[in-house]
Amino acid sequence: MRLRFAPSPTGALHIGGARTALYNWLLARGSGGTLVLRLEDTDRERSTPENVEQIVEALGWLELDWDEGPVSQSERSDRHRAEIARLVEEGHAYEDEGAVRLRVPDAGSTTVRDEIRGEIAFEHAAITDFVIARSDGSPLYNLAVAVDDRDMGITHVVRGEDHLSNTPRQLMVLRALGDEPPPDYAHLPLLHGPDGKKLSKRHGAASVEELRDAGYLPEAVRNYLALLGWGYDAETTFFTTDELVERFSLDRVSRSPAVFDEQKLRWMNGRYLREMQPAELARRLEERHGRAGLRAAVEVSQEKLQTLADFWPTAGFVVERQPTDPRAWAKVMTGGAGDRLRLTRDALAALERFDVGGVESALRGVVDELGVKPKEVFQPLRVALTGGTVSPGIFESVVVLGREEALSRIDAALERVGGGAPS
Ligand code: GLU
Repeated sequence: MRLRFAPSPTGALHIGGARTALYNWLLARGSGGTLVLRLEDTDRERSTPENVEQIVEALGWLELDWDEGPVSQSERSDRHRAEIARLVEEGHAYEDEGAVRLRVPDAGSTTVRDEIRGEIAFEHAAITDFVIARSDGSPLYNLAVAVDDRDMGITHVVRGEDHLSNTPRQLMVLRALGDEPPPDYAHLPLLHGPDGKKLSKRHGAASVEELRDAGYLPEAVRNYLALLGWGYDAETTFFTTDELVERFSLDRVSRSPAVFDEQKLRWMNGRYLREMQPAELARRLEERHGRAGLRAAVEVSQEKLQTLADFWPTAGFVVERQPTDPRAWAKVMTGGAGDRLRLTRDALAALERFDVGGVESALRGVVDELGVKPKEVFQPLRVALTGGTVSPGIFESVVVLGREEALSRIDAALERVGGGAPS
């Protein structure tokens, strides 16, 4: 198989484009074939080098590589112009006030044989002679795609369903160019949001870059994208990339729209995070935050994370003191909270075995002694240690800080209780 991924560098790589890239990549890798990266920059105004860079970076982050390219259509414009001239010379196309149009027969139809949708006939009566070159001679999209697919020996065109109406036009150009058989086509189902409307920005993260920044893992995104329109069986949700390469095939791609649901991606990402080796997770977080020494913080928080972005709010307190959330303080540090915290401090200071079991029995001892609900002891402590009311398990949180640091944070809080509001 010779496949191509052919983004237009008119914007960032969005979820739909990333899915198309992934499916082409899986087919190329699964068949021992070749993937060409082709940048379709016939829209000279909207195509920019920054967008190219962003797309290449997004593919790199997703770990989708290619074997040939990137080739820009703009580099091939002499080739496109030569073919336009030949089509005119051979009578397949003609000039109309400078622009060049391909002749479309009045009768009959062109049939697209789609691997996913079957045969779809397009009546010629509904297709006018269409422009293949502007009056300045520059090639238009359908011409450039057909010439490039032919020159590059593409055997399979796999792309979004939004291109289906271009396909009969590209088939007509291909037929006019020569008698080689056209590639096979597969048009992937549209993407909808959970509300059933066409996927757009308001459904959440829309570009690959935004997914990365939101803290998703590339392996989870690949897994999730693979399921947007494809399934292996009714049950299996988690696939390693090797399994995807082995199992992916066009005959299991669905015709109906696929739903991109960011909540489902979050859930899936959380499971990838929990199953990762702590050392590997720490490595990725250290890279993301540009700092070393996050291993201990990773160990107390790994269970709780759904995205890498959850890490700092959950476990940043382990690395450095966090500002106190005034609402958390106001809610928890009321009534006798100061006295409860003082007793907690004494119990921790006196503790012999400063490990999770030891800390747990010390804190439960305070709860019993006071005859209060556990949270009346745990929450003031949590606010003192972490600055907020949500954190990993309280015993683990105490232990990971170590006695000295934990006591010093408690002391700081006790001072504030004396003085009223947090500084
Ligand atoms: N350049 C087109 C796009 O970005 C893809 C065309 C194709 O795959 O044939 O939507």
